[in-house]
Amino acid sequence: MNNDHRIVVLGAGYTGMLAAIRLAHRTRRTAVRITLVNPSARFTERLRMHQVAAGQELAEHRIPDLIDGTGIAFVQGAATAIDPDARTVAIDDGAVTLHYDTLVYALGSATDTSLVPGADVHAYTLNGPQIAARFAARLDEVAAAGGTVAVCGGGLTGIEAATEIAEAHPGLRVTLISRDTPGTMMGDKARAHLHKVFDRLGISVRTGTAITKVLPDAVHLADGELVPSDATLWTTGVKVPPLAAEAGIAVDDRGMVLVDATLRSVSHPDIRPIGDAAAVRMPWGRIHGTCQSGIPTAQYTADAITRELRGRRVKPFRFGYIHQPVSLGRRDAVIQFTRADDTPRRAYLKGRLAALYKETVSSSPVPVYRLSRRMNVRAQVSKGGRATRVPAA
Ligand SMILES: Cc1cc2nc3c(=O)[nH]c(=O)nc-3n(C[C@H](O)[C@H](O)[C@H](O)COP(=O)(O)OP(=O)(O)OC[C@H]3O[C@@H](n4cnc5c(N)ncnc54)[C@H](O)[C@@H]3O)c2cc1C
Repeated sequence: MNNDHRIVVLGAGYTGMLAAIRLAHRTRRTAVRITLVNPSARFTERLRMHQVAAGQELAEHRIPDLIDGTGIAFVQGAATAIDPDARTVAIDDGAVTLHYDTLVYALGSATDTSLVPGADVHAYTLNGPQIAARFAARLDEVAAAGGTVAVCGGGLTGIEAATEIAEAHPGLRVTLISRDTPGTMMGDKARAHLHKVFDRLGISVRTGTAITKVLPDAVHLADGELVPSDATLWTTGVKVPPLAAEAGIAVDDRGMVLVDATLRSVSHPDIRPIGDAAAVRMPWGRIHGTCQSGIPTAQYTADAITRELRGRRVKPFRFGYIHQPVSLGRRDAVIQFTRADDTPRRAYLKGRLAALYKETVSSSPVPVYRLSRRMNVRAQVSKGGRATRVPAA
């Protein structure tokens, strides 16, 4: 093994954490040096940001504690520029410069508020614990006054946020605004349960029209309707940090880093994008950003880097979805089981059992990180079976 190899992991979210810890375990007793970079020393459980918005306090997981004993060097700061020719990363505008031989690019994604006028100034997002907590404080005020809240976007984040907020604040009037019917990606029965829960929690669902503007006290729709809103949450559209594009690394039209079959950047093979920041394709289509798909990219990349350092061959990355787990408040949920390409199977779960399933999924990453300090935990459930098997040439 090349002993002097320097690996820098950018981003200590769900995927960067696993990649760094697994790499450290797999390269223990060598002189491979791993550095993990993240703006905050606290690990952000993005899967639970809607819970923060509903006023719940989360357990505090500190990154230095999670990597304790691994030998990983933690640098608290934001990567602000990459120089792929010099193989350096500037942290906090050059306050620190890190040199790498391999760069794991795990900067994640965020909700894009630039798509509709007014969303950036008049809407909150779930893009981090601070803004989610500010939204929670605003919701307390609005609920006390018996006001209204609009949740824009009927994808999984919008559904989870609307139900969590309605359950936590029975006095609030919650409207979920979505161009498509929420739950279109689910089967009929799971979707029917979803809509039953909207009724039970008193959530109004407004569909079939686009949002054209977010105002300080309302959401304007393309058909002319104004949906009143004392606090608006924006959950739709995805953006990724511009670092890769700015550095001349090949990206797709959304700024996600283009990768080959072994998840190397197609333009800079020493750069290994994982998680939401990577544009990963399977034979059935493009992987969309989830923890479910991101964690396997982290596991695969840590293993691939280790194998390459040992001069071994690496097989292509394969992944298949297994489920769409959606919380509907703390006591209900719906789990739609899926085929590898994320289309629904017949099987689904609902109610308290589903809530327990979803909670198990959401709380699994931290114990996986802790265990990964000592063993190679299998963090991928499905490689996609026949759907991702490439016939031998
Ligand atoms: C409310 C909500 C619910 C969700 N529920 C589910 C679910 O049930 N199942 C599921 O599979 N997925 C779910 N997701 C999606 C899931 O959270 C993401 O797919 C996952 O977080 C992606 O992991 P990641 O490591 O790529 O990015 P992240 O977890 O976002 O981590 C990125 C990290 O990079 C850091 N970073 C950003 N910029 C810089 C920089 N310049 N320098 C250094 N560090 C930087 C960030 O601070 C962060 O720590 C949900 C998302 C939300 C918002």
